[in-house]
Amino acid sequence: MAHSERFNLRVREIGREVFELADAAQPSIFQAAWWFEQATRMLDRDDRLRTRAFQFVDCLPSLRDNAVLTRHLAEYLDDKRLDLPKIFRTAVGPGRLLTMREELIGRAARFGATQMAGRFITGYDAPSAIKTIERLRAKGMAFTMDVLGESTTSYSRADRYAEVYHHLIDELAARAASWERIPLIDEDSNGPMPRVNLSIKLTGLDPHFDAIDTDRAIREVSSRLQPLLHRARRAGAFVNIDMESYKHRDLTLELFKRLFLEDDFRDWCEIGIAVQAYLKDGERDLIGLLEWGKQRGTRFTIRLVKGAYWDAETAAAVRNYKDPPVWTRKYQSDACYERMTRIMFQHAHLIRPAFASHNVRSLAVVIATAEELGVSRNEYEVQTLFGMGDPLKTAMVRLGQCVRVYCPYGDLMPGMGYLIRRLLENTSNEGFLKQGFGDRTSHDRLLADPTIVKQPSSPLPARRYRNTDPEEPMATFKNASNTNFATGENRRKMIGAIDYVRGECGRTYPLIINDQTVSTKAWHDSINPSRPREVIGQVAQATTADVSQAIKAARRAFQQWRAVRAADRANLLRKAADRIEMRRFEMAATMILEVGKPWREADADVTEAVDHWRYYADQIQRIESHPRLRNIPGEDNMLAYSPKGVCAVISPFAFPLAILSGMTSAALAAGNTVVMKPARQASVLAAKLVEILGDVGIPPGVVNFVPGPGTTIGQHLVENGDVNLVAFTGSHEVGTGVIRAGAIVRPGQGFIKKMIVEMGGKNPIIVDDDADLDGAVQAVIESAFAFAGQKCSSCSRLIVLDGVYDVLLDRLRQATESVPIGPADAPATMLGPVIDERAQTRVRECIDLARTEGRILVEGKLPPEAQGGYFVPPVVVVDVKPEARIAQEEIFGPVLVVIRASDFDQAIEIANNSRYALTGGLFSRSPAHIDRARREFAVGNLYINRRITGSQVDAQPFGGFKLSGTGVKAGSPDYLLHFMDARCITENTLRSGFVPSEERTEVS
Ligand SMILES: Cc1cc2nc3c(=O)[nH]c(=O)nc-3n(C[C@H](O)[C@H](O)[C@H](O)COP(=O)(O)OP(=O)(O)OC[C@H]3O[C@@H](n4cnc5c(N)ncnc54)[C@H](O)[C@@H]3O)c2cc1C
Repeated sequence: MAHSERFNLRVREIGREVFELADAAQPSIFQAAWWFEQATRMLDRDDRLRTRAFQFVDCLPSLRDNAVLTRHLAEYLDDKRLDLPKIFRTAVGPGRLLTMREELIGRAARFGATQMAGRFITGYDAPSAIKTIERLRAKGMAFTMDVLGESTTSYSRADRYAEVYHHLIDELAARAASWERIPLIDEDSNGPMPRVNLSIKLTGLDPHFDAIDTDRAIREVSSRLQPLLHRARRAGAFVNIDMESYKHRDLTLELFKRLFLEDDFRDWCEIGIAVQAYLKDGERDLIGLLEWGKQRGTRFTIRLVKGAYWDAETAAAVRNYKDPPVWTRKYQSDACYERMTRIMFQHAHLIRPAFASHNVRSLAVVIATAEELGVSRNEYEVQTLFGMGDPLKTAMVRLGQCVRVYCPYGDLMPGMGYLIRRLLENTSNEGFLKQGFGDRTSHDRLLADPTIVKQPSSPLPARRYRNTDPEEPMATFKNASNTNFATGENRRKMIGAIDYVRGECGRTYPLIINDQTVSTKAWHDSINPSRPREVIGQVAQATTADVSQAIKAARRAFQQWRAVRAADRANLLRKAADRIEMRRFEMAATMILEVGKPWREADADVTEAVDHWRYYADQIQRIESHPRLRNIPGEDNMLAYSPKGVCAVISPFAFPLAILSGMTSAALAAGNTVVMKPARQASVLAAKLVEILGDVGIPPGVVNFVPGPGTTIGQHLVENGDVNLVAFTGSHEVGTGVIRAGAIVRPGQGFIKKMIVEMGGKNPIIVDDDADLDGAVQAVIESAFAFAGQKCSSCSRLIVLDGVYDVLLDRLRQATESVPIGPADAPATMLGPVIDERAQTRVRECIDLARTEGRILVEGKLPPEAQGGYFVPPVVVVDVKPEARIAQEEIFGPVLVVIRASDFDQAIEIANNSRYALTGGLFSRSPAHIDRARREFAVGNLYINRRITGSQVDAQPFGGFKLSGTGVKAGSPDYLLHFMDARCITENTLRSGFVPSEERTEVS
């Protein structure tokens, strides 16, 4: 018999024994576990119900009174398509709740939720958690304790998270001394094992746990972790580092490897780390750790898990058109787990292997592999989660295995992520728990070798397009991807690009008119706002005469350019996109240095630029190849579009490549020629774009580059009677001036000038009283302070419902104090400088005004690195009246105004009380409020339960109305039409009463 057959036979034997023992330990109808199983079965019947139930559970802890809770329950279940038991529908059906006693329903729901949370969470404080672990020990099971609090939002909360562990170590260690010795769980072949065992998530120790600046993150986490490790070591406790989402994987490994090579910890064996088998490179991680262990020379523990973030990882990958980092078939994760199990046992001299799983096949493989390789039972352990697969735990103890139970404790709010992961696992169709202990799939099938019986898996989450317009077959557009700075290679490329751009400092950038470089008398030093002494480049300043030359060149080039076939124009645009993508690090680095945009923001700006070039290339081909035809007998009708002529592109510094590219690519795609006047502060970057356009073969005169002061050059461009359309993005003051100037028909001007004008915003976010406050705070911080609040989409008004006002403010204050401020070239910076000295003075004046119109809740501190640059600290102003100047005027800086609303009606009213209507956001878990916001929240881009910046071309067409703009949506299928004239052509095809044969139809 082949080895694999023999091995599988033994696995089946062990598995059957486990099942028998587990069956004997199944919960009875009198136990809470039985009821939980029945409830999860009800959810299995209907995906929609499952989603609604999870959403309801997610919001439950934030619902303060029973009336609110009951309203939410009704809102979540008010959907005829849900497969609800009759009794439920009768209780919560429309209108019922008003007549039912809300109190009763509220209490029942709360009781159910507390029971359910209590199933997975060992307690809300240390004493209750300790009681639970003592009960586990009485059943012969060890524990590892986890404090709920991953993904913290501020340094003070990270401090508190660490503090809880400090107390826990003391309390547990004191208590453990009195526990009776249980050899199975308290000793291994090397002697006594720590009775106190802790599991820690690193994202709880640093609000900016981000590989983009690995050294900073390691320093920050270590400042809290090291004292904790010292204490654990002194107390004889064990510490395990959990593994979280993929984006944290490399940083977690790096930190673990660096920290435990330090002198203080190098000879300490009571440490461990989790490794995930659902990752395609899980085996590589494991081998890397084993090699590291060899070098370190002290034993440590590796906990093998499959991985708890599968749904989130696959959704993120699909959203970004990426290959998921995780296996996409369940049997692949299972098989990888088995391969990694063998590797771990082969290195049992270096590590103590721990196997975390509730899958009987996986655990039977663990036992069979240990037997085969001669590893004794006390040299490894099985780990399970509290509240999951209890019969399996009992079975394992009966088999004489050391079982350790993972016991989370703490507040449910920060623990919601954990709870939802457990609910997902319990109800997952792929999951062993449901198949093995719920659905009762046959044991043989469950114990089959995953490489032989490849069980089917559910499909990946999909992008769903429901096109309502059959003439718009554009569902195939793929956005470019942002750079993943979690990889060292990309970080090195960015550092290299910044060095390269620095090396180019002092280069001169002349005008480009009709493909000729033109030097001028006046030159502008484009400087780095983070370090104003650094001149990024010298840019020639056009005179009005130069601009007139450029317009003439564009007019001459227009006739040839409009005659180029749409497909050929589109190909040139695509080449430009490819070239920008090739030079993406250099373009981002230029932006970082020239306008002070931090790494991630600059990178996303490049991505958006690439998208614009590709999107409008696709769009012009669609428009040209699908002319709208309405042919009726005897008459052909066609709606077609033709370019307008010369387009003046006047762009802002805020999105120096994305918006400049969006307006230029749309104009070119449509067949217009361009005279480009970029923002003065971003003109080196614009010069590089023009260079790229020349390189890819855009013909002479089609794009002309005339940087210069807006007041003279911009004005001249807008007023010129040979310019057919103006695409402008900038401030309200300049924008309205542009519209006024453009409206005048100049002598000899035979057309009405088209004005595409995008202006500012005073963008609000509403936080409802049932919102996920941590999620809201994080999104508000990003929306208000990233790039120093200088995006037209930045959040500047926060409207908070009374019920959560104080709590939210407290968290917002802590999070604002934790915002990383610094020069934009430092990778971890979120808040860099404002664009120039004028902006700095203006924002400071606004802050002074804020002191008189409200109360400063928090004013961030500028670090020493920020001295000398044009920095302004983040400021949060509270107690502001909705009509105050500070709440109405655009600031374009990191100043956030907070307004209190007594209820949701008032919140919507305050949000809409603005001259602007660009972006807006809502954080709420009430389906009814979300529905209302969809209808009544008057903004061009409404974002629900996410940040309000970072729109994606095609998926989120961008642009506002009221005084925010002319209502045009960039990145939408209509955008190009604004750059063209529509023409309807009608031809009478009748000749003396003769109807051409192709216009006839059969008469039935
Ligand atoms: C003590 C303990 C500690 C843990 N610590 C961590 C930790 O630090 N980090 C962490 O991420 N997880 C951790 N987990 C959670 C663990 O990852 C999940 O509980 C585990 O994945 C469930 O696997 P299973 O073998 O019990 O169940 P199974 O039902 O056999 O496997 C379910 C798992 O398979 C994978 N999967 C599901 N669908 C697919 C698919 N279509 N294609 C590919 N793979 C799929 C997923 O990983 C899913 O969780 C821990 C679990 C325990 C018990």
